[in-house]
Amino acid sequence: MMEPPSLIEPPSDDFFMREALRQARKAAKQGEVPIGAVIVHDGRVIARAWNQVETLKDATAHAEMLALTQAESAMEDWRLTECDLYVTKEPCPMCAGALVHCRVRRVIFGCADPKGGGAGGFWNLLQAPNLNHRCEITPGVLADESVALLKAFFAEARQRRAEGQAHAKGLKPGAEDGMVFDGP
Ligand SMILES: [Zn+2]
Repeated sequence: MMEPPSLIEPPSDDFFMREALRQARKAAKQGEVPIGAVIVHDGRVIARAWNQVETLKDATAHAEMLALTQAESAMEDWRLTECDLYVTKEPCPMCAGALVHCRVRRVIFGCADPKGGGAGGFWNLLQAPNLNHRCEITPGVLADESVALLKAFFAEARQRRAEGQAHAKGLKPGAEDGMVFDGP
């Protein structure tokens, strides 16, 4: 007979990544590059956010940055030393820098970004020996789902452009250029 799952078993990385993927889908619905993030403290989600660069007209409004601000507010502290961040795509250098500043404990991401990733894909700012904090990294969690979302988004963007709707929100010509994702 199969053992029933333990009630005290902590939620897995997959569990929280699914919540980050839900955030990414919200981004896609708003014409934003579909990337989502959540921050977990003590087994509880304390921040959730999706990429809002186009909506807020702010190139720093990446999912991770928005989630960090929420988490700092929830913790009433900028030190997030017991917090873990889940994000659907490898953090860029800006976000990786912010994660180190906030002293996040673990960073768990979906697909890697070999062209511009700041968590080992291109640079590894999360574990730079000269910085005063290093994050643990768990790559590749539900990466296929994350890649599928990004691919579908950019395929649709290309199609709309081809159909002459290039000025639709978030789908401006060259919108892809601002995003370094060049995954499989
Ligand atoms: Zn970023």
